[in-house]
Amino acid sequence: MKSAETPIQYLKTIGPKRAVAFEKIGIKTVLDLLFYFPTQYLDRSKILSSNDAYFHVANGYEEEITIVGEVVNKEIIHSYKRKFLKVTFRDSKGFFDGVWFNGIKFFKGYFNEGDFFAISAKPAITRYGHLQFVHPDFDKLEGSESDDFLNTGKIIPFYRIPKNLKEKNVGEFSFRKLIKLAVEEYADSVKETLPEAIVAGKNLLPIQEALKAIHLPTSQNELNKAWNRVKFEEFFYFELLVALKKSFIKNDIKGNKVEVNSKLLKRFLDSLPFELTEDQLSVLHEIRLDMESSKPMNRLLQGDVGSGKTIVALISMLMAVFSGYQAALMAPTEILANQHFAGITKMTEKFGLKIGVVLGSQKKKERERIESEIASGEVDIVIGTHALFQDNINFKKLGIVIIDEQHRFGVEQRAKLIDKGRSPDVLIMTATPIPRTLSMTLYGDLDVSVIKKPPASRKEIKTYLSSENKLDEIYEFVKKKINEERYQAFIVYPLVEKSEKLEFKSAIEHFEKLKESYLTDYRVGLIHGKMKWDEKEEMMRKFLSHEFDALVATTVIEVGIDIPNANIIIINDANRFGLSQLHQLRGRVGRSDKQAYCILVTKEDYKHKGTNNKFSFEFMSQAEIERNKTAIRLNALAETSDGFKLSEIDLKLRGPGDIFGTRQSGLPELKYGNIVEDAEILFSAKESAFGVVELDPRLTSAGNQVLRKTIRQRFRNHFKFLKIG
Ligand code: ADP
Ligand code: MG
Repeated sequence: MKSAETPIQYLKTIGPKRAVAFEKIGIKTVLDLLFYFPTQYLDRSKILSSNDAYFHVANGYEEEITIVGEVVNKEIIHSYKRKFLKVTFRDSKGFFDGVWFNGIKFFKGYFNEGDFFAISAKPAITRYGHLQFVHPDFDKLEGSESDDFLNTGKIIPFYRIPKNLKEKNVGEFSFRKLIKLAVEEYADSVKETLPEAIVAGKNLLPIQEALKAIHLPTSQNELNKAWNRVKFEEFFYFELLVALKKSFIKNDIKGNKVEVNSKLLKRFLDSLPFELTEDQLSVLHEIRLDMESSKPMNRLLQGDVGSGKTIVALISMLMAVFSGYQAALMAPTEILANQHFAGITKMTEKFGLKIGVVLGSQKKKERERIESEIASGEVDIVIGTHALFQDNINFKKLGIVIIDEQHRFGVEQRAKLIDKGRSPDVLIMTATPIPRTLSMTLYGDLDVSVIKKPPASRKEIKTYLSSENKLDEIYEFVKKKINEERYQAFIVYPLVEKSEKLEFKSAIEHFEKLKESYLTDYRVGLIHGKMKWDEKEEMMRKFLSHEFDALVATTVIEVGIDIPNANIIIINDANRFGLSQLHQLRGRVGRSDKQAYCILVTKEDYKHKGTNNKFSFEFMSQAEIERNKTAIRLNALAETSDGFKLSEIDLKLRGPGDIFGTRQSGLPELKYGNIVEDAEILFSAKESAFGVVELDPRLTSAGNQVLRKTIRQRFRNHFKFLKIG
């Protein structure tokens, strides 16, 4: 049998010259070509006739449609306004036009009479009653293909043809022909990349069949099965890597074994002004078991804003500290690090511990002093920002690292700090409630603990959408709350300074305005990202000690700080912020047992005015969702305070990369699968992958040799975790 590894030049009709162009785009062998997948398909059942299309449009249908036709005429039209190209097509039911205002010369040369095209776009009907597509997407079909297609209901694959190939005269047809040839002659010789047991167990198509179906599908059903197989494999290998990494940390690295001093710990718990909630206790129990074991802890603590993670962090650190270890707590901003420092110093007052702080902005002398105290072991708990990562910070006996608000940190930084102890226990805390699919991919190697409910005394924050012309009423309300209940308020603006380019409101400008209008008789502070850190500190401190009634702010207040008496937040230009950002901002209030309020102010009115009171986008089309994104975000926020629900919605609206910033997130680059749409496949692949590693952590069994080989090829640079010989 032929080998699929055959260099591409030996595929019939390619030859050495064209092979160079293929190699340039990464297609070196026939196998590479077989894995160059179509970007879309033309399926006859999804095509409309010109007739049907016409009636769809006439009835107000606004989605993109596809229609197939033969070019019958083309002409350049000089209208009184603008020159454009009009290409007229014919199908069995009638005529329709494609119209191009740009690239006229190119398109005129491209559309030739007698050629067949599939045209896709949102059509319109002109005032002369013609069906018209403006700058549509188009794919060229060969006459015979078109006949085939129309008569037999065949599905035609479309490939993206890179420029290098087009220059060598490899166009749509010739590429399809090449692929067809490659599939017919070589697909059967492609080697299976999943173990037989998994292919059979999960009822997957063998790789050879999948490749055939992806390029030469005969039915939609077969096509779905083929893509399923490909996506499964992609998720599977990713999860296999995660499973191996987890098993490596668990079984091959020796961690600390902390002996928890129960007596001291109890004394500490008794000194707290509140009782821990059930969730906090059960999370602490999980953490304690991890710490007492000689395996390193690698745990993610999820808990919505205000759920009480800080105290869990502190108690975990005390478990280590009371038995002679040092602990480090890392926060994303200096404000937050300082707040933790102050809070923790106060709470541990009676226990004779030394607490230190490491910040980027520290003076050299101060810094050197703390560094030496860390190295000598004098300091028990160190709190800091990423400055904690720097090379001259060396712990004497680091037992536990806690990372607060993880999503702000890169994955590499995490690894770097972890290297500082021998292998300290690690607890990562996040307030971004991560949808399950994401946490599985992003944190699949971690054990997960969740604080599901905030302390019981907490009331749900009342959230309102309001337009700008209601500002009078809003400030009446704010003043009433300040006067009668001594509430404090955050007033958030999207920008620091007035901007020429952006229309959004700025904090500095409105700070001045508010002092002269609504809040004349009140004490108003200002905080923003362009202030020096000590100025920001000072502001937060003053706000905390109630020297201001209101604090005008930018998103610097977004993360973590705790002002229990601030119970109102007004967010101006709320449409400007992302959903998870708004949720975080809102989380700055409602941190005590008083009723808190969040008012989202926008210029336009986005409030849902349907007959039923819930705003649902379950049944919206993608295009409708796209158009209504802002309204969906804002109404979702008003309707629920459940961070997990909101993050699911956010994921649907924005996609996974955008939530975390793709580069920083450490998310795998997925070529075929999508963790939102293909969640079911992801779960199934994860189950298989973890099952394999559970039984055979070093992949030594005969049936797993294919895995060993494939994972080495695909993840060369992850070898640190691949203890598979
Ligand atoms: P986050 O999870 O957002 O970091 P914090 O740890 O800052 O939340 O906690 C928010 C507030 O709740 C703090 O003022 C904290 O003191 C308080 N808190 C934490 N645990 C409890 C509890 N069990 N009962 C009452 N209040 C609590
Ligand atoms: Mg916090």
